[in-house]
Amino acid sequence: MHPVLAARGLLKTYGDVHALAGVDIDIFPGDVLAVVGPSGSGKTTLLHVLSGILRADGGDVFLDGSSIGELTETGRSALRRTAFGFVFQSGMLVAELTAEENAALPMLLGGGSREQALGAARQWLARLGLQGMEKRRPGELSGGQAQRVAIARALAHRPRVIFADEPTGALDTRTGQDMMTVLLQAARETGAAVVIVTHDKAIADRAPRVVEIRDGRVAAGVRA
Ligand code: ADP
Ligand code: MG
Repeated sequence: MHPVLAARGLLKTYGDVHALAGVDIDIFPGDVLAVVGPSGSGKTTLLHVLSGILRADGGDVFLDGSSIGELTETGRSALRRTAFGFVFQSGMLVAELTAEENAALPMLLGGGSREQALGAARQWLARLGLQGMEKRRPGELSGGQAQRVAIARALAHRPRVIFADEPTGALDTRTGQDMMTVLLQAARETGAAVVIVTHDKAIADRAPRVVEIRDGRVAAGVRA
């Protein structure tokens, strides 16, 4: 099987800080990979470089074998809306938009049909237990519900890889575990790979594969 995403020799430097000091990683379709490591070790930087939010200073990332480092900013921005889905700690929903509009946002920004986008978003909201809440705005949802909307947004456009940076960080233990269950189940249904940064051991323990980052390098890779 070919990796969906492959990183080779990733370097990223801020002044004299080597946030990434040479990272190689292969992510396969359906993989669930937890990225762990101390604060400041480079986890968020790695996620941002893998997903084309940041450009590496050295090395490259390949999506289905094609370099994303060679893409223009516009090209990488299109990738982020189509090939990738994102779940962040605070959900990062748009306060003015309804749950269904938030979940449909990557598709709406990509210029897809509004009805099709909202239809796909509603399907995912229903599968995630949010039927009847489609028209609510983020302020009218609990933290766990808002995270489900964020999961729907990450999945509704059927990305190849879902990136989550400390997605349970703002949730209580039980809600965080529920969120992880929902995320893993949904990813399995779509065949998407999941890359999840977490410092919560109970969350990392649920990933079949754990990669530890230390000082911008892969310290240990354990694969089931
Ligand atoms: P983690 O997510 O593991 O806590 P980060 O990837 O956020 O770590 O940061 C790795 C290192 O790079 C840290 O030393 C951090 O201070 C530094 N860093 C990250 N982003 C920036 C930035 N935009 N400007 C300067 N330094 C940064
Ligand atoms: Mg971080």
